[in-house]
Amino acid sequence: MWHREAMTSASASPALTFLGTGAAGGTPGTGRSRRRESSALATAGAVTVLIDVTRDLPTQLDRIERIDGIVLTHGHADAIGGFATLGRWWRRRTTTPIPTYASAATIDAVRRRFRRLQHVAFVATAPDERRRIGPWDLVAVEVPHARDPVRFPTYAWRLTASGRSVTYASDVARPTHALAASSAGSTLLAIDGATYRRAISSHLRIDRDLPTICRWDVRRIALTQIGRSAPPHDRLVRIAADLCPKAFPAYDGLEVAL
Ligand SMILES: [Zn+2]
Repeated sequence: MWHREAMTSASASPALTFLGTGAAGGTPGTGRSRRRESSALATAGAVTVLIDVTRDLPTQLDRIERIDGIVLTHGHADAIGGFATLGRWWRRRTTTPIPTYASAATIDAVRRRFRRLQHVAFVATAPDERRRIGPWDLVAVEVPHARDPVRFPTYAWRLTASGRSVTYASDVARPTHALAASSAGSTLLAIDGATYRRAISSHLRIDRDLPTICRWDVRRIALTQIGRSAPPHDRLVRIAADLCPKAFPAYDGLEVAL
């Protein structure tokens, strides 16, 4: 369910809108349990930063009026599969390429997959290298995720505007001290909540890992990347709160003020 009133709010304070909160290929279900591939839009004033370009972008673009910059977490298809769709959207609007920040390996992954990329201006960005999009200050930390971390290094991004920070870590195999340190002081940590009572090597498991992450110095924790093993949304709300009072599952269309 989209929440139109939230999506179109013109508040000047920074916010994060979840465009998708599901696993690769999307997560089936009804209402808030139906989840598209994970992506988010950070907004500060009129300036927006798109986090990941998914294969569900055709639907996700319905609620996006402008994109001032893009950050990519990694080169898997569910994070970069929408660049052709993005190109069609871009050509109807502007001729200025969209600055797009990612690791050099992730940029290579996009280039291997798409030939027409006139709509993006890639800027290879190493961990801890600071970038700027309007009022947003951006910095990445590398996190464990892919089985082949050389081809698919994976970033969590910390975005800060007006002193408010969101750390976005949608694909994480295990909690690390580096991610805990780089997210410290964030208003919101959006983090991998892929599985429940089921282990897979490339993603976090809610029942196992949320109690650990709950001890980190962040104000609120939103779960994303939620897959099929998770219970329906309403039950997951209660499960998350029991494991960690400051945690909740995000859903597609949710806007969180930072
Ligand atoms: Zn991945």
